[in-house]
Amino acid sequence: MRRAGFLSVLLALGASMPAAAAETWVLEAATLYPEPGAPAITNAVVLVRGGKIVAAGPRHSVHIPKGARVSECSGGVVTAGFQNSHVHFMEEAWNDAAHAPAPDLTHQFEAMLTRFGFTTVFDTGSDVTNTVALRERIEKGEIRGPRILTTGIPLYPVDGIPFYIRDLPPELLARMYQPKDAGEAREDVRQNLASGADATKLFLHTSPDGKSARFMTLEVARAAAEETHARHKLVLAHPTSLEGVRGALAAGVDVVVHTTLGEPQPWDAALIAEMKAKHVSVVPTFKLWKYELLKSDTPPEVIDKLVGATLQELRSFSDAGGQVLFGTDVGYMHDYDPTEEYQYMAQAGLTPMQILASLTTAPAARWKEAGRRGRVAPRLDADLVVLTGDPAADVRNFASARCVFRAGLPVFTTMAP
Ligand SMILES: [Zn+2]
Repeated sequence: MRRAGFLSVLLALGASMPAAAAETWVLEAATLYPEPGAPAITNAVVLVRGGKIVAAGPRHSVHIPKGARVSECSGGVVTAGFQNSHVHFMEEAWNDAAHAPAPDLTHQFEAMLTRFGFTTVFDTGSDVTNTVALRERIEKGEIRGPRILTTGIPLYPVDGIPFYIRDLPPELLARMYQPKDAGEAREDVRQNLASGADATKLFLHTSPDGKSARFMTLEVARAAAEETHARHKLVLAHPTSLEGVRGALAAGVDVVVHTTLGEPQPWDAALIAEMKAKHVSVVPTFKLWKYELLKSDTPPEVIDKLVGATLQELRSFSDAGGQVLFGTDVGYMHDYDPTEEYQYMAQAGLTPMQILASLTTAPAARWKEAGRRGRVAPRLDADLVVLTGDPAADVRNFASARCVFRAGLPVFTTMAP
């Protein structure tokens, strides 16, 4: 048996997981990173009760009540739970989420997300009905998985369904929004949000056949953004190109979910200054670019040059103080391992603590949940990652989760009970 499959096997056997209720337990940390800007604490403890962090700090500073259980996951490098801000629940493993066997879904969450420390994920495009069903089964405790936020079904330009998603079920493709005018855009946004979506995703520039281009009109993009903002939700955009980024800025988009690959010009200082002034966040998805280029047998030196240009875009954006959100497009990308994304971010000049911010405090702030998650501090959700190695020494260690807790419950563990 694969150690990573331990939790799903446990659930398949009908074993009950520890109740979040009032149990008080302790996670000992060789090193604790309470938040990206704060110094690391060695020989630390985190005290958890009822799914919340009660106390965290040097062992000598925390009063541990008698009878508190010490977690078998103790001893590693502890940080707040991570957010992956660009995932998709589109692969076959998620089909019929309302009825699929719980152990299978738990196992799939482990394989794709929780084993890498993701306690919150932002799904940027899927069948909203299915994803909402998945989320409800997690919230009911039937499945162990991350907290899910979703954009539901995206909005596309007219006749602009991208060629690379043509293989999706025809029934789903028929429900994808392609608003012709502002009125339709507003109606589509209302319908998607009413179905349970937490945000709106706009495809500003697409290609239906891999050659020709379709653009969402400014009128449609603006109306969709206004309608979304009126409901206090965020607008995410798939830009594809520099023109798409400019369209996102003009429409009032909040998050650009990719850098732009293969553009003749980089993001210049004026563009980056405008992105910063308009508080636009960026999800880089570097590994995706290599993954896509390898599909077309692009030579390694060309891949290095093209991906290198996107690293430079992010470096300029980050240097200008722009907000970076970690994200990989996993679930569209079938390779789930985020290790290479961390290496690319480091190559783009981000420090390990800036990468930690893109995984924790930055998404918590962007989604206005800083009072609930993103740090290891009293009163926050006990979303915790135990790493085997220190990411400050090597960023690949961000992918070395040994145990992962969401609201105080294990969602992934490699340890025997
Ligand atoms: Zn995507």
